[in-house]
Amino acid sequence: MKVIITGGAGFIGSALVRHLVRDRDWQVANVDKLTYAANLDSLKSVSSAPNHRFFPADICDASAMDAIFADIEPDAIIHLAAETHVDRSINGSAEFITTNILGTHVLLESARRYLSNLDASAQSHFRFVHVSTDEVFGSLPPGGFFTESTAYDPRSPYSASKAASDHLASAWHATYGLPTITTNCSNNYGPHQFPEKLIPLVILNALEGKPLPVYGDGRQVRDWLHVDDHVTALTRVVEHGRIGETYNIGGRAPMENIAVVEAICKALDTLRPAQHPRRDLIVHVEDRPGHDRRYAIDPSKIESELGWRAERSFATGIADTVQWYLDNESWWRPLRDGIYSGSRLGLLTPA
Ligand code: NAD
Repeated sequence: MKVIITGGAGFIGSALVRHLVRDRDWQVANVDKLTYAANLDSLKSVSSAPNHRFFPADICDASAMDAIFADIEPDAIIHLAAETHVDRSINGSAEFITTNILGTHVLLESARRYLSNLDASAQSHFRFVHVSTDEVFGSLPPGGFFTESTAYDPRSPYSASKAASDHLASAWHATYGLPTITTNCSNNYGPHQFPEKLIPLVILNALEGKPLPVYGDGRQVRDWLHVDDHVTALTRVVEHGRIGETYNIGGRAPMENIAVVEAICKALDTLRPAQHPRRDLIVHVEDRPGHDRRYAIDPSKIESELGWRAERSFATGIADTVQWYLDNESWWRPLRDGIYSGSRLGLLTPA
C-alpha cells in the first residue's frame, strides 16, 4: 500500500506515520509544511526507513501537490494537515481558513487530476480519507451523543474551518465521484502532543509547580481517545471504510475537564511525588468565548461496521502519557522554552 499522509510531522500524523512505516510496512509519503506545531523529532524512529519519504511542502501549493501525486502514485491519501488550536483560531483565523479550507480544496482537486490519469481498476482502489473533528457538531445537551447524522453547528473559527472542509470532501464525492471518506474524532491525547494542548500543558505545568488554570467551572465535557487508538481507526477506515461515508471515532470516555486535570495530578503525584498534592495548583479562570459545553461521540457505526474499538482505557492511557512526558524532556523542553511560551493563554485548552 502506498499512501500520502498530510500533516505527518504533527501529533496524530506522526503517530500514524510511525505505525504505518514500522508496523505495517506501507510506503508512506509524508507531506508537511512544518509549522510551529510540527516536530521532526517525532519522526526520528522512521526518518531513515526506506519506506518513508518526507516532503516539506504546503498543501495549498497545487503544483507541489500535483508533483507529489505523480511521483508517489498513491493508493490513498490520509489528509490530516491543518491548523488545529482553537485559541489560536480565536486570536487569528486567517491561517485556519487558508490551510483548513483552501488547502483541502487544493488536495481534492489534485487528487481528482491524479485519478483522471488512472485506468478504471486503479481508480476503484483509490481512497481520499479526510480527517476531521467532533467539534464540527457544536455543543451537546446533557445525555446526548454525536452520531454521523448529527447536524453541523460549528462555533469556533477552528471548528467552522474544519466543518467547511468536511463539506468540501463530501461535495467532491457527490459531484465528481471522488472516493472520499470523512472521519470525525474526539479529543486525542498521548505522546508527542504539542504542549499548548490541555493534557501535555497540565502535565508540564504540574511538573514544574506552575498554576493549572482551568476555564470557567471546568465542567466542560470532552470525549478522550488515545492517539494510537485513533491511528488504528484511521488504518481500518482506509482499508475497509465505505466510500462516501463518514465515521465517528471516539473512546466512549467522556470526562469533565476538571476530572482530567485531577487525574493527571494524581498520576504525577504517584510517578514523581512532590511536597504538596498537584491538585492544589488548580486555579479557575474566565471561560473561553463560545466554549462548547459538552462533546460525546457515539462510535457504534465504526465499531459495528469496521470492527474497530478503542483498546486503551483513559486510566491506562493517561498514566502512560504522563510517564512518556517524564521520560522525554528532550522532546518537549525546546517547545516549552521557545515558541510556545509566547502563546495567548498558557491556559487549559481542550484541543
Ligand atoms: P497538529 O497541529 O499537531 O499537526 C498539524 C500538522 O499539519 C503539523 O505538522 C503542521 O506542520 C501541518 N500543517 C499545517 N498547515 C499545513 C499546510 N498548509 N501544509 C502542510 N502541512 C501543514 O494537529 P493534530 O492534533 O495532529 O491534528 C491532525 C488532524 O486531526 C487535524 O486535521 C485535526 O483537525 C484532526 N483532529 C485532531 C484532534 C485532536 O484532538 N488533536 C481530534 C480530532 C481531529
